[in-house]
Amino acid sequence: MTEHERIPLAGVIGSPVAHSRSPFLHGYWLRRYGLKGAYIPMDIAQADLAEALQTLPKLGFVGLNVTIPHKESVLKLADIVTDRAALIGAANTLIFRQDGKIHADNTDGSGFIANLRQNAPMWAPAAGPAAVLGAGGAARAVIAALIEMGAPEIRVANRTRARAEALRSDFGAKVVVHEWVQAGQMLEDCATVVNTTSLGMTGKPAFKVPLTGLSAKAVVSDLVYTPLHTDFLEQAARAGATTVDGLGMLLHQAAPGFERWFGARPEVDEATRQAVLGA
Ligand code: NAP
Repeated sequence: MTEHERIPLAGVIGSPVAHSRSPFLHGYWLRRYGLKGAYIPMDIAQADLAEALQTLPKLGFVGLNVTIPHKESVLKLADIVTDRAALIGAANTLIFRQDGKIHADNTDGSGFIANLRQNAPMWAPAAGPAAVLGAGGAARAVIAALIEMGAPEIRVANRTRARAEALRSDFGAKVVVHEWVQAGQMLEDCATVVNTTSLGMTGKPAFKVPLTGLSAKAVVSDLVYTPLHTDFLEQAARAGATTVDGLGMLLHQAAPGFERWFGARPEVDEATRQAVLGA
């Protein structure tokens, strides 16, 4: 290691990665807080991942965000994996420690909770069952967080039923699997309803599941944030439910990494949202 001062570097690794909004977000926070540092997107192939994780710390990188397809593979390459990342089976935030060890965490679940707390302050996750549409990586983070928040039951429906069944074996009997074709009916009495599928995202098929049983008391969130106002959220709003878009989750999941790498806890507020939306 050199003796002189180094500017902390961080970035997001994935493939593809050009679509990521994270560089705009971290770039905005660096400017806003007047901090030295840089954050860049890096398209890294699976075959080069291990070498990249060895080399980047030597170049001055203090950590990384991780996106598809590396979220699972980085767990095997990290020296320290938080309990929540191990439970979820994926990491989205790496810290390159000064002792040379790689620390892997998953902040998607805490980002999801912080978004709902901020935008639906009356939300009471323990007051009733939660319904989760989808059973991919994001669903695992959301389910772990909902269980931690005291949700009494997690109803899961997924196109590929076996993936939902796997969540029950990993997260326990609180997870109750429902048929995808009848997903609308599992929403009755739910305090929380979340779309964790990619349906409704720009370029993906539309979200067409009728939200038949949805109660006006439910807090409903979509993890999809392109577009911001999805058909899923519009359907929920028509039923009188409180809706929260997915952009806040993206912003909140990024905050812990920024703080560890650059030394200031960033604020997630309207100015931050606008900086990312306008990018
Ligand atoms: P993933 O692991 O690939 O899972 C995708 C999910 O979508 C699976 O449940 C999949 O069902 C379902 N799906 C895909 N196409 C479908 C179709 N045509 N009909 C029915 N179901 C379909 O992806 P992920 O990492 O969990 O991400 C899911 C979404 O969340 C993405 O849109 C991602 O951008 C978003 N996300 C947002 C944030 C945020 O901060 N707001 C964070 C993480 C993820 P099968 O199992 O049947 O394939």
